[in-house]
Amino acid sequence: MHDFNYKHNNLYCEAVSIEKLAEKYGTPLYVYSRNTLISHYRKIKEAFGSISPLICYSMKANSNLSICKALVKEGAGLDIVSGGELYRALKAGVSPKKIVYAGVGKTEKEIETAIKRRISFFNVESIPELRLINKVAGTLGTQQKVAIRINPDVKAKTHKYITTGHGENKFGIDFETAGKIFLERARYKNLNISGIHMHIGSQIVDSEPFIKAMKRVVGFIKYLETHGAEIRWLNIGGGLGIIYSKERPQTAKEYASAILPILKKIKANIIMEPGRFIVGNAGVMVTRVQYIKETPSKNFAIVDAGMNDLIRPSLYGAYHEILPVRSHSYLNSKDVRVFDVVGPICESGDFLGKDRKFVGLKEGDLLSVMGIGAYGSSMASNYNSRLRASGVMVDGSKVKLIRRRETYEDLIRAEL
Ligand code: PLP
Repeated sequence: MHDFNYKHNNLYCEAVSIEKLAEKYGTPLYVYSRNTLISHYRKIKEAFGSISPLICYSMKANSNLSICKALVKEGAGLDIVSGGELYRALKAGVSPKKIVYAGVGKTEKEIETAIKRRISFFNVESIPELRLINKVAGTLGTQQKVAIRINPDVKAKTHKYITTGHGENKFGIDFETAGKIFLERARYKNLNISGIHMHIGSQIVDSEPFIKAMKRVVGFIKYLETHGAEIRWLNIGGGLGIIYSKERPQTAKEYASAILPILKKIKANIIMEPGRFIVGNAGVMVTRVQYIKETPSKNFAIVDAGMNDLIRPSLYGAYHEILPVRSHSYLNSKDVRVFDVVGPICESGDFLGKDRKFVGLKEGDLLSVMGIGAYGSSMASNYNSRLRASGVMVDGSKVKLIRRRETYEDLIRAEL
């Protein structure tokens, strides 16, 4: 599943020792495997080969330029949700024709810039937004393609913060309202309303919610077609789950064989927006144990990475495997002790893992927090005025610094 493996009790990324990377670049350090990244993109591409979809990598998962560039070079488009992501997408060299733009709160300025840059689609999430895009396109004297994001009202069986296709979520438009939009599309003179978009949530491990949502959407497309509205594009979003601990998520092939029969019932071209599936297992975060603190109730391994570097455990109670960079499995098993792995931040919610077993763990040891490629560095912050960490990309035995560690000057650069 990924290219992080032990060789002689030392953890490697592809052909490079993680310990050596930590020595050279310091910790905390995000380490990405190029091979893992590209092979996951290819898994999706191959599984859906029979319909050649446009795969727009969802750059919110990890918007580092080198990561986006590597995928763009493979032929990927990009799914964006802000003016900042548009800026990054263009810097990554993607053709604007392969950019799709979602998000419930696009501003007039963001819409204007995206139209001027000639992006492919806006995925529209409300009628006021539709009106605004129509107005801006009119002012710019152009016709803009849009897709209506449907909220298919299905439960995605994932953490409540990352379900997006249930009626109570802020995303998308219900079928009835969407139907009216399509039937009254002539009102929006500057829009070409020719697509449907859906994205029901993230880290979805089985196909059932996808099947349910897609059947509903395909039924809706057929209804629209009988009423004279041709749907040329269907964007099925992202959401494929990955293994963090004991999950057994559907593979790309299983996902494809579950939904292709449904998608083949319509003529629309397919767009996909996977994020986590592509980059999730391609990254680890390396951190050093600063102190071992023993209290009457718990042992704490206090490390030099915190919730500002990886917020998923604090935000979603997410589980990430934590492995010693130098495996001590050969030591006497009496040395096994249980620790909470916590960061230096002044919040009790600042933890990377709870009740984790380690053999002979001591101050100065390196730990590797696994599966942080998606929603790791892209959700990092400067909380507690901590410097954002550096990142490297490993390609075989080659290493490239893809983000330098911030400095104290970076911290106050925007302050007046
Ligand atoms: N598309 C949209 C509209 C999203 O909101 C998201 C994630 O929130 C994605 C795609 C990517 O989801 P994932 O990383 O689960 O594939």
